[in-house]
Amino acid sequence: MNNLITRNLFFCSIFFVIISCSEISSRNTNLSNQKKGELYDTVSLAIVGDLMCHSQQFNQAKKDTGYDFNPAFAPVKKYLESADFTFGNLETVTAGAALNYTGYPMFNTPVQYLDALKNAGFDVLTTANNHSLDRGFVGVEKTIVELNNRGFLHTGTARSLDERNNSLILTKNNTKLGVLAYTYGTNGIKIPDGKVFCVNLIDTLQIKQDILKSKQSGADVVLIFLHWGNEYQRFPNDSQKSLENYIRKNGGLLVFGSHPHVLQPVNASNDYKTGFTIFSMGNFISAQRKQYTDCGIIVKMKLIKNLATNEVSVSKANFVPTYVSTQNGFRILPVYDAIESINNKNVNHLSYTSSIIEQTRIKEVWNETNKHMTNMNVGFTALEQ
Ligand SMILES: [Zn+2]
Repeated sequence: MNNLITRNLFFCSIFFVIISCSEISSRNTNLSNQKKGELYDTVSLAIVGDLMCHSQQFNQAKKDTGYDFNPAFAPVKKYLESADFTFGNLETVTAGAALNYTGYPMFNTPVQYLDALKNAGFDVLTTANNHSLDRGFVGVEKTIVELNNRGFLHTGTARSLDERNNSLILTKNNTKLGVLAYTYGTNGIKIPDGKVFCVNLIDTLQIKQDILKSKQSGADVVLIFLHWGNEYQRFPNDSQKSLENYIRKNGGLLVFGSHPHVLQPVNASNDYKTGFTIFSMGNFISAQRKQYTDCGIIVKMKLIKNLATNEVSVSKANFVPTYVSTQNGFRILPVYDAIESINNKNVNHLSYTSSIIEQTRIKEVWNETNKHMTNMNVGFTALEQ
């Protein structure tokens, strides 16, 4: 990969001239390579933005016997569980009932929320965000214990320096993916004395070292999750752009952003080969209802590794627009499925809503999200199935 990146950066301008950035040319290249007998490995990813749990969500999930968050994820489960690895940003802690369950502004969520995420198909949760320390260091520790108990892979917070330095690497067949996560801050909550390892803050030198270490540990490609940007801004700010640039220069090709609570576009060029950044994936679930905060996307991405050259690249990336319905409890609806069920009056469909206000909004969300997120140069378009 290092050679590939260097080569691509060096010849970037030439690439622009001689290669038309279309998905078709990539497919043709892959096809001709395959004809030569080269072998490929593929890994599929599904990635979402902020997994919030406001008090309205856990109040509605409360049952006589505990909490049940499963219905929220049922309509999108098929899109999540079908990927080799499914990622989300856990923007809360599970510090236990004794420390009180609360929503905004300092979150602590019943642990059944994690059960529902597991059941929905999530494999990897990033935990570096401005709410990592909402119950202090104890919250960091307890959340990691609960994540481990459920078999989640996770990164972003740590209980010790050793744990922090043992960076996450995912393996599928012959492909290894490094995963790193950082946050701009912790809402002014001071990092406990002597425990700087407990949450990964955005620090350019540290990120550079971590990317290098991840590659030295065998990662073919490194996925970097950044909790950054301005809340409710639909476009990236200058510091996001300069950090993206820095990360690409230092070998981080894939950047997935969260925190603004609204979608921000992708930046990808040269058939993804110089990198793919999605500045913000928006809210996947929350109780926020304002325009643009009530929707998000599932990024569906396929990585391909050429086993002859060991190069890993993005072969395909698309998105599934989503909308959070509050009719009959919180439910994340895949927008295309919801529109189909509305048009067909399929009232028993998992993605159906009978609320006329929601039906109207869902159709708006389809148009808004397509307009904002589609990048035809690299075939980043909405999936209709
Ligand atoms: Zn945040």
